[in-house]
Amino acid sequence: MKRICAWCQTSLGEVSSNIHSEQAITHGICDICLNNLFADRDIDFIPFLNSLSAPVILIDDNNTYLSANSKALDVLAKDHQFLKQKRTGDVFTCENAHLEGGCGHTNRCGGCQMLQLINDTYEGKDSFDHVPVTLFQKHGDVRHKLDLELTTEKVNGLVLMRIDSHK
Ligand SMILES: [Zn+2]
Repeated sequence: MKRICAWCQTSLGEVSSNIHSEQAITHGICDICLNNLFADRDIDFIPFLNSLSAPVILIDDNNTYLSANSKALDVLAKDHQFLKQKRTGDVFTCENAHLEGGCGHTNRCGGCQMLQLINDTYEGKDSFDHVPVTLFQKHGDVRHKLDLELTTEKVNGLVLMRIDSHK
């Protein structure tokens, strides 16, 4: 099967070792484009993120939101300006995010599956494909169990997180 980079339209040739696996979020984009797109973190990532067909959030090495595509913002029911510089607990309305210290630093964050997944992705321990992550959201007085399936990929020191399912 011939494949073409979704960004620069050059051929990726037949399925070969220099392209990402089918599961990877960026599998349709060549390594040269990825390196250019992620050259630094002040770049406007939205056109790239919107080119992806699933909801994807971009997170930096401090567990902090950098950007997201419109599909992800729809899922989160939040807007980009509101999320800027917020931690992932705020992004997903985690019930612990408002506690002292904030997301990642409260005394309830020790067993957090979301933080574990992000940390493991940064440390490059494994590939992370459709990982189940559960957290509890708080909307006013209403507590809601949120079951997520997430796929993550590390690109040039940042983490792409795809929301595969949410309920
Ligand atoms: Zn390309």
